[in-house]
Amino acid sequence: MINLLDIDLKTFQDQIAKSGHQPFRAKQLWRWLFKEEQTDFNKMTDLAKDFRLFLSNNYQLNFPKINFDHVSRDGTRKWLFDMGSNNAIETVFIPEKNRGTLCISSQVGCALECTFCSTGRQGFNRNLSQAEIIGQLWLANHLLSNDYDTSEHKPVTNVVMMGMGEPLANYDQVASSLKIMLDDKAYGLSRRRVTVSTSGLVPAIEKLKYDCPVSLAISLHAPNNKIRDEIVPINKKYPIEVLLDSCQSYLEEAPRDFITMEYVMLKDVNDQDQHAKELVDLVKNTPCKFNLIPFNPFPRSGYESSSRERILSFQKILMDSGIVTTIRKTRGDDIDAACGQLAGDVKDKTKRTLRLIQEGKR
Ligand code: SAH
Ligand code: SF4
Repeated sequence: MINLLDIDLKTFQDQIAKSGHQPFRAKQLWRWLFKEEQTDFNKMTDLAKDFRLFLSNNYQLNFPKINFDHVSRDGTRKWLFDMGSNNAIETVFIPEKNRGTLCISSQVGCALECTFCSTGRQGFNRNLSQAEIIGQLWLANHLLSNDYDTSEHKPVTNVVMMGMGEPLANYDQVASSLKIMLDDKAYGLSRRRVTVSTSGLVPAIEKLKYDCPVSLAISLHAPNNKIRDEIVPINKKYPIEVLLDSCQSYLEEAPRDFITMEYVMLKDVNDQDQHAKELVDLVKNTPCKFNLIPFNPFPRSGYESSSRERILSFQKILMDSGIVTTIRKTRGDDIDAACGQLAGDVKDKTKRTLRLIQEGKR
């Protein structure tokens, strides 16, 4: 049996054509599956009976298993999905006035070892499949549909690949999932509403701009190579100048006119006025907006977040030079759904969650 969530539209079209079915059936099925959220082939009423039979004999739908589903006081909702072998990933939904953003994971763990990131500290376990990536979006929309008015659109209006893992290190599965998000027959999200966040895998950025030019967020975090080499080690392979060059060429292909630069505010590491001034000079040729992220502490991180005053002073320098700069609101604090806390200490937490489930407490 093939998991339908694991194949792309073209592959599915080829498979059904080989068995003598009309390729346009694939698009009809995509609509049932992603737009209507219908999982029962027999209820897909405009599909011919023999095609429905062919589907039931050859295909199934396997979604990630939910271990944990929790709503925070501010409405942020977090799911912990079981990834087998005592591993878990997290998906977070952040409701705002006119939009609902889903933060999706792309890997179990991460190999890139950024020093301030609890996922990086944990090491790499494995890549997620397309079914596990798009399954997060499918389930979130489905589980949220009771709480939101879905007559105009689904609860999730925006997707950010900012959960656990480095999306561009799992390129093929992430790119095929992004295509389903953008596809009119499936979710039909505009490229502006889908963002990939990367620590800077330059060759993959170069590919993405042709394959699927969604919005791009770069985890810059430092104004120079000396600091970035230390806190974002992939910088030693793709230093800032190379990264910024690829950002500029991305913008030439992509639909947006700016890149989002993420900048985690680490006390006494990268948060001085001098660093802000260096940044202004650094990005003078790169159309970008900055998003300053207060550091989310985790046990034994060795870092502290910059004070509110420090962050405001840093922001002012960037703003005064004409760079739009926002400060990320920390959401879902009470359920550890804030940035960089995603599945922090995941093994411990998963074990704890599994134990609670076994004990019947969840
Ligand atoms: N791997 C990708 C996407 C996942 S991380 C990337 O690095 O861009 C999403 C964002 O959270 C990144 O900007 C990351 O640097 C930031 N982040 C990681 N740990 C954090 C922490 N402890 N506090 C605040 N932001 C953090
Ligand atoms: Fe990986 Fe991103 Fe964390 Fe760096 S910040 S270790 S790239 S998840």
